[in-house]
Amino acid sequence: MKRVEKRTINLLGQSQDFVLRRPPRTRYLRLRISSDGALSVAAPRSYPIFLINQFISSRAQWIVTNIKKVKDRHSLLSLKHQASEIKKYKITTKELLESRLKHFNQSYNFSFRRIAIRNQRSRWGSCSSKGNLNFNYRLCLLPPDLADYIIVHELCHLGQMNHSKHFWQLVAKAIPDYKARQKDLKKL
Ligand SMILES: [Zn+2]
Repeated sequence: MKRVEKRTINLLGQSQDFVLRRPPRTRYLRLRISSDGALSVAAPRSYPIFLINQFISSRAQWIVTNIKKVKDRHSLLSLKHQASEIKKYKITTKELLESRLKHFNQSYNFSFRRIAIRNQRSRWGSCSSKGNLNFNYRLCLLPPDLADYIIVHELCHLGQMNHSKHFWQLVAKAIPDYKARQKDLKKL
């Protein structure tokens, strides 16, 4: 029996690829949707394929819904541009960051070191423990209220390097409706 197999199954009328793994000592069937929307299934070594297919089919709706969610979330982030466009967007994002960071930091007064604008396809922004802020060059393509949310989110990591209650309280000072903006961001 193969340890890793590529298979296909019909879910709600659509063919769906998945990777079937049989890691040692696995005793239960487990489904996983990775951050790029790929489906994988871990199964015990001796488990027959028809039972695995039955298990996946019984969760068809959940799988289809969640793969769509993951893919939608990445659609704007995964947009590819030509070098000249990237250069242009980087300049716009830099201007946006300079003015909005200054605006929001008037009340927070955090000190940060370097601001970098990156071409990442997995995230909108990040904050390093050294106090450097990183943002995605695609930030200027977002609706302004969502870009503001990302800017404030990373800015607040200078005060709290975690996602604790205190962190969200900090975010809420500038963006009281941050939860609604998070939801909108996921829909993009
Ligand atoms: Zn965060």
